[in-house]
Amino acid sequence: MARTETSTHCPYCALQCGMKLRPVTDGGVVEVVERTGFPVNRGALCGKGRTAPAVLASGVRLTGPLVRDAGGELAPASWDEALGRVADGLRGTRAEHGADAVGVFGGGGLTNEKAYALGKFARVVLGTSQIDYNGRFCMSSAAAAHQRAFGLDRGLPFPLEDIPRTGCVILVGSNLAETMPPALRYLTELRENGGRLIVVDPRRTRTAEQADLHLAPRPGTDLALALGMLHLVVAEGRVDEEFVRTRTNGWDEARASAMAHWPELVERLTGVSVPRLREAVEMFCGAEDGMVLTARGPEQQAKGTDTVGAWINFCLATGRAGRPLSGYGCLTGQGNGQGGREHGQKADQLPGYRKLTDPAARRHVAGVWGVDPDSLPGPGRSAYELLDALGRDVRSLLVMGSNPVVSAPHAGHVEERLRSLDFLAVADVVLSETAELADVVLPVTQWAEESGTTTSLEGRVLLRQRAVTPPPGVRSDLEVLHALAGLLGHGKGFPADPEEVFDELRRASAGGPADYAGITYARIAAEDGVFWPCPDEDHAGTPRLFLERFATDDGRARFVPVTHRAAAEETDAEYPVVLTTGRVVSQYQSGAQTRRVAELNAAAPGPFVELHPRLAERIGVAEGEDVAVTSRRGRAVAPARITVGIRQDTVFMPFHWPGAGRANSLTNPALDPVSRMPEFKVCAVRVEAAG
Ligand code: SF4
Repeated sequence: MARTETSTHCPYCALQCGMKLRPVTDGGVVEVVERTGFPVNRGALCGKGRTAPAVLASGVRLTGPLVRDAGGELAPASWDEALGRVADGLRGTRAEHGADAVGVFGGGGLTNEKAYALGKFARVVLGTSQIDYNGRFCMSSAAAAHQRAFGLDRGLPFPLEDIPRTGCVILVGSNLAETMPPALRYLTELRENGGRLIVVDPRRTRTAEQADLHLAPRPGTDLALALGMLHLVVAEGRVDEEFVRTRTNGWDEARASAMAHWPELVERLTGVSVPRLREAVEMFCGAEDGMVLTARGPEQQAKGTDTVGAWINFCLATGRAGRPLSGYGCLTGQGNGQGGREHGQKADQLPGYRKLTDPAARRHVAGVWGVDPDSLPGPGRSAYELLDALGRDVRSLLVMGSNPVVSAPHAGHVEERLRSLDFLAVADVVLSETAELADVVLPVTQWAEESGTTTSLEGRVLLRQRAVTPPPGVRSDLEVLHALAGLLGHGKGFPADPEEVFDELRRASAGGPADYAGITYARIAAEDGVFWPCPDEDHAGTPRLFLERFATDDGRARFVPVTHRAAAEETDAEYPVVLTTGRVVSQYQSGAQTRRVAELNAAAPGPFVELHPRLAERIGVAEGEDVAVTSRRGRAVAPARITVGIRQDTVFMPFHWPGAGRANSLTNPALDPVSRMPEFKVCAVRVEAAG
């Protein structure tokens, strides 16, 4: 047997680590081999990436379609029957209730080709405006703040390799050591080079332990923290006046709002002392250059856009943006969170990161699609609003690559809405908790069984290459959309070949903010990825944005004045503790795949409630004993994990599990007014011994 190795990328997070897959049997079993030449991870992988081939095994995945039978059970069916049922379900709803009664829910793990095809399928075949995706729950606040300030959203406007060479990094609400461990080396190298690291996190995480300075604000107050630091920048004469004058607009209003946030007020709001604030400002401004990197902590809030905006204002005022080795960046979470939002599965966007409300954008994309621009629907509901409308305005739903029963906020309510649908179809690799509720389950191929591109958190477009033959009973998502489009009267325009779809995506994105026109499969493979924008095949790609000008009409960055406001739900006598949620190293997102990998399950077998010893003593629980956490929306029970590394007024739960320990049973679906991001990171709870 030939042992040909295939270069590809991990199926999980936005770091998109390079790896090689090597066949170990003739039956399609592969093992992961180091790919040291890929610059981002240089061969390093976390346990999730290393064990990813386990999900290819037949025992843990779906290998044939399932259709709900007359007895209400999911039963095996042929592809013809399953696809026919889906087409009938979607067609029937549209005929009875109108096109917008059909919804589509996509995922940030789908390749660019799938995200593109899904958006086109929704708008051209179904004619519905009701499409959004779970990436809305990931980095949408950072995307909105990026757009607002810089006129363009790319998670990192510079490559990761710049991080070790800057002078100081403020890492806000990111636990890299657990979410993307190979990226930790960039921070280690930063410190080895003499750079400083400030971590802002209510928990003393493994990442915070690496920091020169750890600030632990009360959850939901990092907007105030950023304003307090900006206040000190102004008060201490550390504003980069020339940068502000020549490269920005709107400083006077932003300065006025920062000056209203006195350090003493900020200390009261955040719990971070004034001397610690001063130390942070001194450390950041004392370095020649610097970066602020945010992740889900500040972003997953009902004021996430303004919170990120406050950190961007801080960067602009100190002249740490639009210059080499300086800037603001977002550490996107999902594998294709970046590309997933660029190519049309987001409620308000067309491919190439074009706005659905822009007449020129509609004309361009409609031209590529061969349809009348006026036939394209307008923007639809955001992800949570779409889920909340299920069974009411939206009567049928097609889910592709998402598991909202575990990952959506107020998950008990979302589960109830899903159950109330007239028709639910789910395309997935495994029988997820959402697929369990479906009328039809379509088993699809996964990363190693198909080719396709993703766009990493750096804006680097990468190629995942097919390394194994999929089992006979499964089809790719593109084949599913091709077949459904045909059954619904669109025999052309939905090719199943990924490269053909990508070539159309290139044309659709040409001239747009996220321009992929010059990126080809061959170039990606030859160059280890190409950074967008890349308008033609002679263009080298753009690793660093904004060095000459920002992407606004006048080329200047925009300060946006923001003010502190309380969390959507404050603590009170009945719910006196703050719950914040997050991730652990051995599980990924809703856990649908990683919970099926024995090694990962052994390392992280279930949820837990992290709490401070004083709080544990107050409620009378010892390490490992069950804690009941109750919010206004639900209750979850999980064993106590007691640590001094968390504030006494806060508990933490990871969200990867369904059932009694489902953290998202508790979370608050209050939405950010700009990004429509739910407030995953802050809600008021009561904690008690569960006994
Ligand atoms: Fe995969 Fe992310 Fe782990 Fe890299 S860090 S191996 S991309 S899950």
